[in-house]
Amino acid sequence: MKQYDSIIIGAGHNGLVCAAYLARDGQRVLVLEAAGAPGGLAANREFHPGFHASVAHSTSHFSKKIATDLNLAAHGLDKTANQMATIGLGANGEHVIVDRGALSGAGGDDNGAYQDYMRLMRRFADALKPSWMKTMPRIGGTGVSDLLTFAQMGLKIRGLGKKDMQEFMRIATLPMRDLMDENFDDELVKATLSWDGLIGAKMAPRSPNSAVLALLYRLAEDGNHSIPSGGVSGLINALAASATASGAEIRCDAIVDRVLINSNENGLVASGVQLADGEKIEASNVISAADPKTTFLNLVGVENLDIGFTNRVQRLRCDGYVAKLHLALNGLPGFTGLDKPDGRMIVAPAMDAIEFAFDHAKYGECPNNPVLEVVIPSMHGTSMAPDGQHVLSAHIMYVPYALKGGWTDAARDEMCDRAIDTIAQYAPGIREQIIQSEFLTPADLERDYRVTGGHWHHTEFATDQLLMMRPTYGAAQYNTPIPGLYLCSAGSHPGGDIVGAAGHNAAREVLR
Ligand SMILES: Cc1cc2nc3c(=O)[nH]c(=O)nc-3n(C[C@H](O)[C@H](O)[C@H](O)COP(=O)(O)OP(=O)(O)OC[C@H]3O[C@@H](n4cnc5c(N)ncnc54)[C@H](O)[C@@H]3O)c2cc1C
Repeated sequence: MKQYDSIIIGAGHNGLVCAAYLARDGQRVLVLEAAGAPGGLAANREFHPGFHASVAHSTSHFSKKIATDLNLAAHGLDKTANQMATIGLGANGEHVIVDRGALSGAGGDDNGAYQDYMRLMRRFADALKPSWMKTMPRIGGTGVSDLLTFAQMGLKIRGLGKKDMQEFMRIATLPMRDLMDENFDDELVKATLSWDGLIGAKMAPRSPNSAVLALLYRLAEDGNHSIPSGGVSGLINALAASATASGAEIRCDAIVDRVLINSNENGLVASGVQLADGEKIEASNVISAADPKTTFLNLVGVENLDIGFTNRVQRLRCDGYVAKLHLALNGLPGFTGLDKPDGRMIVAPAMDAIEFAFDHAKYGECPNNPVLEVVIPSMHGTSMAPDGQHVLSAHIMYVPYALKGGWTDAARDEMCDRAIDTIAQYAPGIREQIIQSEFLTPADLERDYRVTGGHWHHTEFATDQLLMMRPTYGAAQYNTPIPGLYLCSAGSHPGGDIVGAAGHNAAREVLR
């Protein structure tokens, strides 16, 4: 008898969610994580002695269903006290603030327009919400479950009523620029409200594609950003505790080198994994929480895949465009016009500023004037920095994975300086407060976190790689062309962010 029912490759949050559901169902589950601790891109990172951050620094739509099912509150998750306002930083301290359903600080009629805009966006987000937790139907599938899911998705949209349904169809792939221009006047408001549609993707306000869908995806729960106590890794600790309490084993420093594949009378079948040190471990199911390209091209190997499928996997777009800045600070930085910098601060003065930053990245260059998002996680929990000192964490857009000429230390230092200079325009004394800085390019993230391209979503969140095509047909229902091998990472439906849906949905398919 095999020792394990399921082996999960990778203890990112999706791997942990999947493990917890399988173990709760009575499966013997082993999670193998290459890094020294679980969490993947959400893991705790001590970047300077006593100073902690995580690449993913806040959550906005982690599934409430998963939190309840896995009893995360009983396993130490406390995120109630740490909700953040989103603040669009204005040049002279005149900021726009989105807090608990209201917009303030905007010019003209925008504060009122925000209520009408959000009423509609929430309706659309609610109509889409059930789809994120479903297994997508197969294209051309005629099975009952495929047809039922198609029908349920259609009915949800139809339930919007004719007028709103027409509007939904019209805006779903609209460039963000048009959506914002139709609703608001103030450039700072437009840039701030478009942020959640753009961050993490190779898209700018004028790009037609899936920015509006990304925005609706991120509104699936309440859409408010928060930092759990102890940082995002507080959520990871709760997930790991829930999985192990149900009997799952988590082994860190365990690099999976390849998926073991046997052939039987029906063809190929996954039978376990081999670790980098040569150890072989058997299981009935192998579930990969690594990204799709890593899974198929490195761990399975193209010799085990059909050429058409291999071509589609090779074509997946996975180049990341978000870099990460961590600053260890000797005190709390002062931001002009803010009493307390405890919100999520967006530095993007206008939609064109976002577009111009993207223009550079499109051609493999770094932006002269990066646009970015800043939080100070140490204001939301005492464990992240020594007493009286602080950690600043920033997402820097758009920093290309494939920099023209390649990433050198000098190129990294230059971009890091540019990001700090940009922040210093809003927090004038910050340079003098820096004890240590860390700048991670998408190429660094690929190396440190084993994510192809260092991509936020593991593979681009774009219409040709979404829903029943995520990551590609043939593997869009969590199972793969190799029986016994499943996917459960951000590269599967519905996509990235700290959500847990891919892990949840994959566990359901394994148990089916
Ligand atoms: C710069 C950046 C900032 C982000 N900020 C946010 C944010 O603030 N909020 C948010 O919601 N989302 C954010 N995201 C997105 C979010 O972090 C990811 O979408 C999410 O972490 C994906 O989770 P996952 O569990 O699918 O994969 P991952 O977190 O990538 O975990 C995969 C795990 O698999 C392991 N692994 C891979 N290969 C192997 C192997 N061969 N053997 C063993 N283990 C292996 C890796 O070590 C890793 O631990 C950010 C992403 C980036 C790049």
